Order: sequence, then C-alpha cells, then structure tokens
Amino acid sequence: MMYMIMAIMFLFFGCFLLIPGAFVGLGLIIPSVCLIIIGLVFVAMRSMVLKRYAKSVMELRKEASVKVRCGYCGSLNRETAKKCESCGATL
Ligand SMILES: [Zn+2]
Repeated sequence: MMYMIMAIMFLFFGCFLLIPGAFVGLGLIIPSVCLIIIGLVFVAMRSMVLKRYAKSVMELRKEASVKVRCGYCGSLNRETAKKCESCGATL
C-alpha cells in the first residue's frame, strides 16, 4: 500500500512536470520522464509484492488444509493418511 502511494506520487509529479516541460524544453522533460519511470517501477514492485504475498498465503492455506495433526504425538500428517507417520496411531 506504501508502494501505491509512492507510485501515484511519482506518476503525478512526473505528469505535472511534463506540462511546463513541453514549453521549457529538455531540462524539465528528462526529470519528469525519470519520475514517471520510477512511478512505473513502483507499480511493478507493488504487483510483485502482492503476488508473492498471495502465493505465500495460498501455500499456508494449502498446508493447513492438507496436513492433519496427530492427537498423540503432534506431528503433521497428510489428510489422506489413515495412520500417523511417526507413531502409527489412527488419525
Ligand atoms: Zn502420531
């Protein structure tokens, strides 16, 4: 969420500078283009972070749903397992 604010800020200032840059010349166009590029990088970073976060949440959920904890020894077993892999107790 921090990334999105930064991205919007950079994109906004980049576009804001681009308008006078059209009159002043390259002295303003170059920094404004740089700001827009940085903004786009932030957008890309944000989507990457979100993707990684979603993936880890999915993996955690998958692990929680697939694994069954043994009532005797506490070790994690597959949901399909009929007996505990470490102590042999029926699940
Ligand atoms: Zn067990």
